[in-house]
Amino acid sequence: MTASAISCIPLPQSEPRRLTILGATGSIGRSTLDVVSHHPGKFEVVALVGNSNIKLLAEQARAHNAKLAVTADETKLEALREALAGTDVEVAAGQSAVVEAAQRGADLVMAAIVGAAGLEPTLAAVRAGAAIGLANKECLVSAGDLFMSEAKTYGVDVLPVDSEHNAIFQVLDNNNLDQISRIILTASGGPFRTWSLEEISKATTEKALKHPNWDMGPKITIDSASMMNKGLELIEAFHLFPASIDQLDVLVHPQSVIHSMVEYEDGSVLAQLGSPDMRTPIAYSLAWPNRIFSPSPRLRLEEVQTLTFEAVDDQRFPSISLCRETLRQGHTAPTILNAANEIAVEAFLSKRLSFQ
Ligand code: NAD
Ligand code: MG
Repeated sequence: MTASAISCIPLPQSEPRRLTILGATGSIGRSTLDVVSHHPGKFEVVALVGNSNIKLLAEQARAHNAKLAVTADETKLEALREALAGTDVEVAAGQSAVVEAAQRGADLVMAAIVGAAGLEPTLAAVRAGAAIGLANKECLVSAGDLFMSEAKTYGVDVLPVDSEHNAIFQVLDNNNLDQISRIILTASGGPFRTWSLEEISKATTEKALKHPNWDMGPKITIDSASMMNKGLELIEAFHLFPASIDQLDVLVHPQSVIHSMVEYEDGSVLAQLGSPDMRTPIAYSLAWPNRIFSPSPRLRLEEVQTLTFEAVDDQRFPSISLCRETLRQGHTAPTILNAANEIAVEAFLSKRLSFQ
């Protein structure tokens, strides 16, 4: 068993809590700022980092009174400067500015850049001693051992934002971590859950981008259609929680109401439930070890009525087994898989590659 790097001793929390968001203009970044906007005075926005959407980045920086706004795209510096003219917001651009922003005195850094591009700035935030709200699962898939060992060395809390890992974090019995018998990650099954292999092989980008339950950025939506997302999450769970590869299971649960479960040696299974809305796990990570209001819809089980479960079909969705295999191989196998997947998803999104 690996040891969990999440400390069970709550950090003393300063208020307002100084917050930096890497990937502020994306789906997780926007949801994070939405939660923050419901809590005036509770958070102080230090830095907002985005890429090409300068208009939105500037709007966010103005609305949240950010100290610093950074675009990763060096060619967009002037546009950002113009968009923030007449404000006190400092502006910067380029990869080194992104890393510098990640180190800029925040209590909590929300790591919400998509893909391995998030690794360098998120590691920089760890080394600067900030707690990490970790949405960017590719950090752990591509460099899980290094990332968690640096988190331990610098004594920082890694708070899982991914809904499954956040659910597990919420139901983890910290006094009995050695009594965990199984961690069960739930999966919606994505838009092709009921499709035949033949239909899946002809899937279009438009169909793959239509997730039945979650509204997310394009890369993770495609990963959900191939169920690679669940495989990446298996690797993520391996690094976050004290479980061996064989103790990590995946269960298809199309309603996305149970966000994951932990089974203990005594037969108890603890689950976290909620409507499928990332603002709940985001709120939990922003306020941990406390809880704050989130504007996500309340779960009404009388409306949901039925919760169903299915085993994963490895024939139609081989990516989960593939990820499990890379964990067994260890070393750089998960890193290589992550890189190959990023390239394949990008090629599929730009219609240069078919789905299978
Ligand atoms: P997104 O595509 O909506 O947003 C990505 C953000 O990263 C944007 O702000 C973009 O400007 C920024 N970005 C992209 N490339 C960059 C670069 N090279 N340098 C700096 N910034 C860059 O993605 P998302 O759906 O918000 O997902 C973000 C991360 O969170 C992913 O790792 C994803 O797997 C994870 N996640 C997302 C969800 C969700 O509901 N969206 C749920 C769980 C986990
Ligand atoms: Mg998830």
